Formats: sequence, C-alpha cells, structure tokens
Amino acid sequence: MRRQSLLLLLVLSLPSVLHAQTIELSLDASEVARKLLHAKMRIPASPGALTLVYPKWLPGEHGPTGPITDLVGLQFSAGGKPVAWHRDPVDMYAFHVDVPAGADAVEVAVDYLSSSAPSGFTSAASASPHLALLTWSQVLLYPQGARSDEVMFKPSLRLPAGWKYGTSLVTARESPEGIELAPVSLTELVDSPVLTGEHFRVVPLGGPNGDVELHIAADSAAALAISPELTESLRRLVQQADALFGARHFERYRFLLTLSDHVAHFGLEHHQSNDTRMPERALLDDTLGRLSIWILPHEYVHSWNGKHRRPTGLATPNYQEPMQGELLWVYEGLTQYLGNLLAARSGLFTTRQYHERIARVAADLDHRPGRAWRPLVDTTVAAQLLYGASDAWASYRRGVDFYNEGWLIWLDVDTLIRQQTQGRRSLDDFSRSFLGGASGPAAVKTYTVDDVFKALNDIHPYDWRAFLLERVSPSGDRAPLGGIERGGYRLVYNDQRNQLLEDVENGGAELTDAGSSIGIRVSSDGEVRDAIPGTPAYTAGLAPGMKVIAVNGRRFSPDVLRDALSSKGATLALLIENQEFFTQVSFPYEGGLKEPHLERDESKPALLDQILAPLR
Ligand SMILES: [Zn+2]
Repeated sequence: MRRQSLLLLLVLSLPSVLHAQTIELSLDASEVARKLLHAKMRIPASPGALTLVYPKWLPGEHGPTGPITDLVGLQFSAGGKPVAWHRDPVDMYAFHVDVPAGADAVEVAVDYLSSSAPSGFTSAASASPHLALLTWSQVLLYPQGARSDEVMFKPSLRLPAGWKYGTSLVTARESPEGIELAPVSLTELVDSPVLTGEHFRVVPLGGPNGDVELHIAADSAAALAISPELTESLRRLVQQADALFGARHFERYRFLLTLSDHVAHFGLEHHQSNDTRMPERALLDDTLGRLSIWILPHEYVHSWNGKHRRPTGLATPNYQEPMQGELLWVYEGLTQYLGNLLAARSGLFTTRQYHERIARVAADLDHRPGRAWRPLVDTTVAAQLLYGASDAWASYRRGVDFYNEGWLIWLDVDTLIRQQTQGRRSLDDFSRSFLGGASGPAAVKTYTVDDVFKALNDIHPYDWRAFLLERVSPSGDRAPLGGIERGGYRLVYNDQRNQLLEDVENGGAELTDAGSSIGIRVSSDGEVRDAIPGTPAYTAGLAPGMKVIAVNGRRFSPDVLRDALSSKGATLALLIENQEFFTQVSFPYEGGLKEPHLERDESKPALLDQILAPLR
C-alpha cells in the first residue's frame, strides 16, 4: 500500500510521465555480429513537454561512461506520427520532445553501434561473430528525474538464430519471434546484462537451492572445456562465500563468462550476476587462467560488498546523478582483499600463487613516487578520471591504486584484529556482520565511513578512524606493508622469478617488469611503458614512449635485459630510440634481478596462513 502512494506522489510531481505504467523495450540483437543493435521503446507519457535521458553514470564503472556517441538512429513518434526532438544544449544525454495532444505514449527507436575499442568497460568491444554481452543501459532512454527503482520496464529480446543466452533476469516466454523477460525495475534491468552466443555452456555451481550457475559463451566450442578441478574450485568458492558472509542478498546468481580475444577483458559486478571477459583460451591455458581467474571471486564478493552494501556516494537515485567515489577503498579495496582471500580458500589460487601475487602488488606499490603528491584517497575521488588514464608514468601519476593498496590495508586490519584478540576475532566476523547481515532479496543498504569504523569497533574496539585515515589520507613514501609483516612474512627481493611477473610477461600483456631493480617496465619489443622517478633508469634519462633497442650491445629481448641485470658488478649500456633519434645511456647497476617474494618470518605467528585456510 505504501508503494502505491509513493507512485501517486511521483506521478503528481512529474505530470508528463505516467510512472505507474511500464515501459516496453524490445532489443533486436540479430545483427550483433556486425556490431549493430536495434531497440524500440514504448514510453507511457501524457501530452506536453517530455525529457528523456540516456544513462550516463554506470554502476560499477564508477564514472560517466555511458557511450552516448554510439547511440544513433533516434526516432520519436506518437500514434504512428513522427515527433520532433532536440538534444539539450548543455546535457548531452538529454533529449526533449513535445508529446502531441491525445497521445498516451511516445515510441522511440534507436540503434546502438557496438564498439571495437580494446578498453572502456561495457562501452568497449563486447561482441564477436559468435557471441555478445548485451548491456541494457546502452539501448534505452528513461524519463528525466525518475528514480530508477520506480520505473518499470518490460524487456524482450531477439537473438541471432541458434544462439543461447544466460542472464539473472527471469524468462517469461520464449517463441520463435523472441524472448519475453519478466518485468523489472530500471535498476534491475541495468544491473542484469545478457550473455549470448553460439557456443554456450551452463555449469551448476550449487548453493542451497542450486541457484548459482556459471554461464559461458566462447568463440569456439573447444574453449568451453572447463576442467573438473576448476569447476570444483568454483563450487568451493560459492561455499566459502556462504561461510564467510553467512547470508545472501540474491535469489539467483549467474557468473556470465565471455571467452573471446575480440572483446575487452575486465570484470563488472552486478547484484545477481557478473560480466567477466577473458581471453578465449583462459580455461585451457594455465598461464592465461592464472592471470584472469581472480576476477570471478572479486566480482562475486561485490554482490555483498558494493551491490548490497554501498557507500552513499555511489548509491545514486538514477544514472544521471554524479557518483562520488571517496569510499572506493572500501568498495573495491575490501573486495580485492576478500576476493583474493576466497580465491585461496577455494583453491582457485595455491598458497604460492597468493604469496607471489601479493608480493608483486606490494613491490609495485612500494615503488610509487606518486604517493608523495597524491594520497590514496585522491585516487578514489578521481577514479572517474583514472580508469581512462594512460599507463605512461603510472608510478608518478598513480592510477586506481585503491584496489591493490586496499588489499594491503585490509590485510593490515585483519592481522591486527587477529593479533590483538589472540585469534578470537577477525575480518571474517566483520564481513559476516557488515556485509552479510540477514539474507533477503537484492536490496541496497548504504553506509558512510563512520558506519565502517563503528562496525569494526563492534568486532574489536580500537581507534579504527585513526588507523585507517592514516593509511588512506596522507602521502607517505612507503606502501602499507604492516599486514604482510604482522602476518608472519617479509617482502624480499631476489633473483628468482616471481610467478605473476613471469605470467604477465608470457600471457598476452607481454610486459617485462624491472620496476624493483632499475625502475622501468617495458613491452616485449622494448617500449618503455613506465620509468619510476628516483630509480637508476629514470636518473639516466629513460621515459615512457622511448624504446630500448639494445642492452650491453645486444638487441633487446626480455631475456637479454634480465641476463644483464643479473650479471653483478656491471655497467648497463642501453641503446635508446626516442622518436627518430638514438642515444646511448650507461649507468652502473649491481642490484641483481630483484623480483619480489614473500619470505616466512619465523619470529612471528603465520597469521597469513591462518587467514588463507578454508572456513568449515
Ligand atoms: Zn571491483
């Protein structure tokens, strides 16, 4: 009953739109192989001025990334007659029309040009001739000012012949003409992408009602061959998440996994699904698998941390309202901590893999001169800019460091709670109370930073405000390594290869990381991607965009560079190409390879090992 009066209030405040009525949206994806989507909408309206908007701020992308330039072919009509439209001169995402007398709805037709860009989250490449990830926000308009929770949509879908699909939306009816999905709010629609493809597989992952499933679309049938071991680890992931949080806030959950070399590679969280995109052979190739598998537990954790519990600044009433990312060190940082922890507890990572990953992360963040000018909190506030920032000068600029530095900070918190309570309490307890709570349907429960401090204090009384703000706010010159050390380990550097660095070099990114030694990261053909201020290579004049042609008189390759770094007591002579000009730089270097690892510190209890042990 309360809901009805709320709707009435909304209708009265926005007279040209009948919110109580449902918007019909039909998406025709039959031409997605040529990157063209067609959509039609019927939007209930009453005569007079009407402004419709295209989603601009997309949840999980933490920025104004709605791909407005790829929206084309706009046509408005009412009662079969065309209606003129014009774009707002200031807000590029708003379209104004005059609904003619006698009309009770506006019909809108749009096309969407599905991008081929290699990066940019959902606005980037999302389709191949064999598969597509369909994102509803790309093909819809909704009434300006409306709250997305209160606008209802009735979606339907047409797919290429023979393609299967997966989504957390409920299918109402299937026929040769298409698929009708059950009506949902705009919030749930935008939060519920559809994965479709010719080569498709469903893998049940269990849960009390068997309601968690992995849906895979791949560019080949062969790429769908998930191993029994990986399937078992993913089933354990679901069990370990249940054990950690003690509650669920979804009715069903779909891991939507795209395997293609022709789409952008990333993960995007949703409340009841995730959109995760990996190289085609990620389930077949060990190196590719080790590099990408962390995304699945990360996105799954987001159902609790980010979707159910959300900072107030990121819980906006609709997609036009700007988001504020200041608490992304909780939203993303804690998710990075818990996702990696669940990967280890479920067997998706071995303990060694976890150690090698966190060692690399810690080494990377411990060689970040940018922290001298930019506190971590500024990487969260500026996240909407930094996701699109260049890799060049990454150590000086700093990027979205709140993910991995958040991992270190929350390990710091977890080990401190365990140490001070003699193992009686831990961040598991915080996860259960703050992120778990009571089970129920998908719903957002917002929080402020004070809520975080209070919830931590409820687990273990301590000055968490001072502890966390000291790590988030000021600029220091070192990464927060306290959690590794209290966890019973040390960050060390030696000539042994770090497994993650080796994988990164061999698995597509082809990046050789000499950041901890001479201070550069280079591509497999010698292009300098980053030069870290204060390091030997930087001091010798190297900078991003230059190319290392030869090392000690021999043509550059990652092995040639590594051999030269390992030969102690030598001078390093680099032939550098800078645009069309060549220079030779030489500097003494005898530090060795300096690849990061964790080393056990026997003087302390191995808290980190306890943290990574599966829950019963
Ligand atoms: Zn995330």
